[in-house]
Amino acid sequence: MSYQVHIAGSDVSFGCDPGVFILDAALKAGIQIPYACRKGACGNCAVRIESGQVQRFVTHPETSAAGDDLLCQCRPQSDLIIRPADWRQGQPNETKRLQVKVYRNTAVAPDVSMLHLRLPAGQRAKFKAGQYLDVLLPDGHRRSYSMANPPHESDVLQIHVRHVEGGRFSQMASGLTAGDMLEVEFPFGQVTISNDPNDPLLCVCGGTGFAPIKSLLDDMAKQKSARPVTLIWGSRDLAGLYLLPQIDKWKKSLPNFQFVAAIEMAVEPQDFEVFQGRVDQAITSKASSLAPKEVYCCGSSAMVTAVKKICLDTLQVEASQFHADEFVMNPLQCK
Ligand SMILES: Cc1cc2nc3c(=O)[nH]c(=O)nc-3n(C[C@H](O)[C@H](O)[C@H](O)COP(=O)(O)OP(=O)(O)OC[C@H]3O[C@@H](n4cnc5c(N)ncnc54)[C@H](O)[C@@H]3O)c2cc1C
Repeated sequence: MSYQVHIAGSDVSFGCDPGVFILDAALKAGIQIPYACRKGACGNCAVRIESGQVQRFVTHPETSAAGDDLLCQCRPQSDLIIRPADWRQGQPNETKRLQVKVYRNTAVAPDVSMLHLRLPAGQRAKFKAGQYLDVLLPDGHRRSYSMANPPHESDVLQIHVRHVEGGRFSQMASGLTAGDMLEVEFPFGQVTISNDPNDPLLCVCGGTGFAPIKSLLDDMAKQKSARPVTLIWGSRDLAGLYLLPQIDKWKKSLPNFQFVAAIEMAVEPQDFEVFQGRVDQAITSKASSLAPKEVYCCGSSAMVTAVKKICLDTLQVEASQFHADEFVMNPLQCK
């Protein structure tokens, strides 16, 4: 039996089965509600549920204090009326589920696998730089990975998987070989980075948070963008900056590109700028020379929180111009 979820103040309703998260049903029906992580961490999909009962899997301290619920973590137990602050009607079923074939698996760092996945013949990947895919595990659990290739390379999907101790998919990823098949669904994520050529952009990432930024910068290079862009890529050690040749390519293809490596361990001088410390400390130390209008930050929740605070408080970036992809990990929330 499917419950009806009605959007207050409109004549729009959509069906949601009891075992399905309301956000997933909304997206399937083409209702675009702001969201990002789909794991109950970012709080973007918080809405007021005006009537009806839901089963809540995860609550978010700020949004539940405001009386709102996370649509990515609620399943219906009756018909509902919800009141999203912001929504629009898009096309239904914008995501595709496909069986993709691993055609290359490169160990780019001791703890990072770069997987190239080939789409079935005749299929093209339609996504925007910064969006992500879900790998569907056989028991229905999902794991999210950002596309690292730019949208114009549409016959493949490239993902960068950091090996997490005890992690189900990331441990398996290192052993995948050419010909292995995976089921994926994509694209997910709402990317709102502007194309304004005059607005300086600051990209900040930690570890495999580099993946969506690679997609974005490759896309900007393809469009011959002259937008000023600074990339700060953080890692514990030099090996964690696992695609440094890519940086040289952007130095040539993006005329106003600057790169800073934030490395926690002491390293020998390099032919690029190195700050010894974390990315948030690097931003603080360079605050007088950074004047971004827009920030795109990807990586762990702790890193995103620290970077957001400095960008808003010290660099005076408007909250609406701070975009983040938090690589949230919690197996209990991923089904
Ligand atoms: C939008 C988004 C984009 C992302 N993009 C990327 C990306 O580009 N690259 C990337 O590397 N990662 C990315 N991630 C993170 C990724 O989705 C996975 O969470 C990560 O790879 C771990 O998955 P796993 O299956 O290996 O680990 P899991 O099996 O999910 O385990 C994660 C951790 O939980 C522990 N654990 C497992 N089971 C239990 C249990 N029952 N109780 C307690 N602890 C347990 C494990 O030991 C491990 O430490 C992204 C996440 C999001 C939300």
